[in-house]
Amino acid sequence: MLTRDVADGIHRIEDAYTNWYLVEGDGGLTVVDTGVPTSWRSFRSALRDLGRSPADVKAVVLTHGHFDHLGFAERARKELGVPVWVHEDDVLLTRRPRRYGNERSPFAYMATQPRALPVVAAFLRTGAHFPKPVAHVRRYEHGTLDVPGTPAVVPTPGHTLGHCALHFPDRDAVIAGDAIVTLNPYTGARGPQIVARCANADSERALASLDALAATGARTVLTGHGEVWRDGAESAASAARAAGIS
Ligand SMILES: [Zn+2]
Repeated sequence: MLTRDVADGIHRIEDAYTNWYLVEGDGGLTVVDTGVPTSWRSFRSALRDLGRSPADVKAVVLTHGHFDHLGFAERARKELGVPVWVHEDDVLLTRRPRRYGNERSPFAYMATQPRALPVVAAFLRTGAHFPKPVAHVRRYEHGTLDVPGTPAVVPTPGHTLGHCALHFPDRDAVIAGDAIVTLNPYTGARGPQIVARCANADSERALASLDALAATGARTVLTGHGEVWRDGAESAASAARAAGIS
């Protein structure tokens, strides 16, 4: 489902309780994260709704390499001929999306969390667990990416080791990916928090990375799961610190 202009020129699409974004910029569009495999349909229909064509898309940027954000990345790369950017430390995940180094088994964990069952069902229905590996990626580390929207990379390791948020200072917005979420897909809990430890490489590091997110000072926080947070990155980070590790 498309929600236009969640921040200036940033459109949000939610599939299977997972958010991804289309960012308007000079010279075209950047796709930030690519949802689940069936998100390709949402992608085509969002472009139509926005009066855009696939040729307007110039890049895919991944906040991290988890399966539920890799959905149509490889298809976009092949069919649109655009680069797929990912942080250096998450390259391995894009090649082997189901083998990520996390603290506990997410699937066993989810089964014990009744409020997470709608998410489990949506993941199963949309083939979320089975994205195509990305054959070639373009690596980033820090700085500002030369893609439409020119996001500044904010390293936020912990959820994955290469996780990064993307800051758009001119739009007072940050795409946080899964560095902070307002719906925890693994417990079903709402409100700003880090993702449950079963899906984190290092939860303590994820908590520490909230400082970098807060330091952006962005008013609008766009998360990988859950609703838009409009009360600023600092308040989101302090709520997430208070919520702690689940
Ligand atoms: Zn994730």
